[in-house]
Amino acid sequence: MSPIRSVLVIGAGVSGMTSAIRLAESGFAVEVITRDDPEQTTSCAAGALWGPYLAEDPRIAPWSERTLTVLDELAREPSLTGVSSVLGLEAARIPAPVPAWATALRGFRIATREELGEYSNGWWYEAPLVDMPAYLKFLRARLDDLRITITTGVVVSALDPRFAAGRIIVNCTGMGAAKLTGDTELHPVRGQLVVVPNPGIDQFFAEHDESPDPTYLLPHGDLLVLGGSIQDGIADKSGDPGIAAAIQERCARIDPRVRGLEVIEHRVGVRPARPGIRLEHERTPGGVDVVHNYGHGGVGVTVSWGCAYDVAALAMAIA
Ligand SMILES: Cc1cc2nc3c(=O)[nH]c(=O)nc-3n(C[C@H](O)[C@H](O)[C@H](O)COP(=O)(O)OP(=O)(O)OC[C@H]3O[C@@H](n4cnc5c(N)ncnc54)[C@H](O)[C@@H]3O)c2cc1C
Repeated sequence: MSPIRSVLVIGAGVSGMTSAIRLAESGFAVEVITRDDPEQTTSCAAGALWGPYLAEDPRIAPWSERTLTVLDELAREPSLTGVSSVLGLEAARIPAPVPAWATALRGFRIATREELGEYSNGWWYEAPLVDMPAYLKFLRARLDDLRITITTGVVVSALDPRFAAGRIIVNCTGMGAAKLTGDTELHPVRGQLVVVPNPGIDQFFAEHDESPDPTYLLPHGDLLVLGGSIQDGIADKSGDPGIAAAIQERCARIDPRVRGLEVIEHRVGVRPARPGIRLEHERTPGGVDVVHNYGHGGVGVTVSWGCAYDVAALAMAIA
């Protein structure tokens, strides 16, 4: 029997960490290299509510379902994992059909007129809500348990056979893939969130409409995460005070308890967006096997475990 090949995962955001875990669980010897510490990644800035929004890619639904199963399991121990199962209301200003995935979730029901305020229609459901700073720490601990080492470093030539040195390369570099692979379809979409003390809110609110300034309130224990913003083409990670103030004001219209709360933290991340997630095997002319797993836009947490299972399956097929 030939020895199982080693794998180098580039990236320690949610895509890199979950891929590394599935690869190690599948029997590979796994190492991770990352430019940034996990808490400096886009993943750490996410809200992060499970919800398969980019339904036009047919792979999103199965990836999301698999992730839902894993996150539901992790939500049994929220204080350990950072994952909670939370009931909330999703509401649309422009009347919208209820997505099929929502109707299958626990607690699903159509919202009453009294519950909707200035919105046209809406629906309640229970979904995993992920406290990303805590969750990334939990994933990091699982990497340690699986004896996966994380090294800090910038990879400049992932496709160079001398760099790969016989290993399978798993590319989970988010926006970094633009430089690493020359992918011109990848583009930054900046998002901004405001973190305030939680005044006692235990249900989420999420606006359904496709707008550049979606409003949402996500309770994470003692903290409340307020959103959001969608700025296509902007890669600068500095926060905009005007956007932060507008977020807080919009959220205060949903729940007046939010008005005037002291801001604890501004979170800014750059979503790695492209027309479709790139998850595929590439064998370079130099003979390097690369499994790409990047370009998750605004659904990277939602699809993370589904993608990680497929990364491991592709690696098994080429090992
Ligand atoms: C404000 C905001 C809210 C969001 N809300 C949600 C939500 O509610 N639900 C949801 O599912 N998703 C949400 N997202 C999207 C989600 O955060 C992303 O899709 C996801 O984090 C992408 O993860 P990733 O691991 O692929 O990339 P990243 O988190 O960006 O990680 C990339 C990794 O690659 C490393 N890297 C890059 N280039 C190199 C290199 N050359 N060499 C070495 N390492 C390199 C980086 O250091 C980093 O470790 C949100 C995003 C934002 C910004």
